[in-house]
Amino acid sequence: MIHGLENKSVPVHREYLIKLAKKYGTPLYVYDSCKIRKQYLKMKNAFSGIKNLIINYACKANTNLNILKFLQKLGSGLDTVSIQEVELGLKAGFNPRKIIFTPNCVSIQEIKQAVEFGVRINLDNLSILEQFGEYNPDYAIGIRINPHIMAGGNSKISVGHIDSKFGISYYQIPHMKRILKNTGLKIEGFHMHTGSDISDIQAFLLGSQVLFQIAIDFPNLDYIDFGSGFRVPYTKNDVKTDLTSLSSSITEKFEDFCKNYGSQITLIFEPGKFIVSESGYFLVSVNVIKHTISTVFAGVDSGFNHFLRPMFYDAYHCIENISNPNGRFRFYTVVGYICESDTFGLNRKVKEIREGDILCIKNAGAYCFSMSSNYNSRYRPSEVMIFNGKDFLIRKRETMQDLLRNIVDIHI
Ligand SMILES: *Cc1c(COP(=O)(O)O)cnc(C)c1O
Repeated sequence: MIHGLENKSVPVHREYLIKLAKKYGTPLYVYDSCKIRKQYLKMKNAFSGIKNLIINYACKANTNLNILKFLQKLGSGLDTVSIQEVELGLKAGFNPRKIIFTPNCVSIQEIKQAVEFGVRINLDNLSILEQFGEYNPDYAIGIRINPHIMAGGNSKISVGHIDSKFGISYYQIPHMKRILKNTGLKIEGFHMHTGSDISDIQAFLLGSQVLFQIAIDFPNLDYIDFGSGFRVPYTKNDVKTDLTSLSSSITEKFEDFCKNYGSQITLIFEPGKFIVSESGYFLVSVNVIKHTISTVFAGVDSGFNHFLRPMFYDAYHCIENISNPNGRFRFYTVVGYICESDTFGLNRKVKEIREGDILCIKNAGAYCFSMSSNYNSRYRPSEVMIFNGKDFLIRKRETMQDLLRNIVDIHI
């Protein structure tokens, strides 16, 4: 069971991962809870100059209940984007007031459910804002602002620009104020989330200026929520968000704001990827080495059904052959077994790969299992968590029963 902060660390080395692959089979997700804790504390410490700081783990990155419980025990709050994530958070033991629901384009019914659960809510469009104000003006809510900033590593994850479907534009503030006046609805916070994978901290700072300018006109705020977008390295020399310089600028600007505002409100961040990405290892077995005229393919027992990021976002994930540390480097294109092009890595320099070897794909903790599917009628992989020096199965591999569970046979 999970006991707060005590957490014996074990080095997640090659031999250990091979042992896990043998014990649990492949494909297999492995998460190192020590790394999750380290990242959580790194973020908390980076912003320790802020008196009221809340870190809400954005759980769409990885919703395994054990990971949620682990972060809850560490003191984290939770950022959720669907009512199902809200329910998972409550099941994991989060106090409803430590859960924020920041949905986009969901129905007013779903938002009413969130009210029933008692969680905090950030609304991001005027139509729902008006309906909500009519329904329950005493339930204070937050507003997601679109600060109109182009940021993020990829157009699919850049969500704060002018054409984005997210947030209420700051040009719509006069309309928003009219709705608040008409309905008597109270505002408890302002939120922005400009996108994932931001390496340029100027984007954060620009966005924060926009939020401060808006917030200063609203008395009785509880929080300002700067969302996320913290970037983690995917390779040795990859850029990452410079937390130290970001935190010193943000801390200074936030404390200035609080002084002008006249009260010490809370600052919230919602990291997903930053907390869990590097904790994860995805282990696959090599089924086939296939030489074509132009390429050597290594075909593995997985595909974009289990690991979508390389195919969907062109994400680069490091691939290592953990079965052959003394082999010499050769070039491979590592592909999946799905009947479509599903390339994990193009023309990669990897220690010589033989059929039966186990490959380790890194940065597999965020947006990997949580985006998996049953395409090609494949079972989704099992998940293991290393906790207190031991490995625990935290999700069983699926079976045929899982594929058939909701099928209604009409006896044709
Ligand atoms: C996805 C999301 C996050 C987390 O983004 P990361 O890049 O994983 O840190 C935070 N806030 C909201 C509202 C989100 O939708």
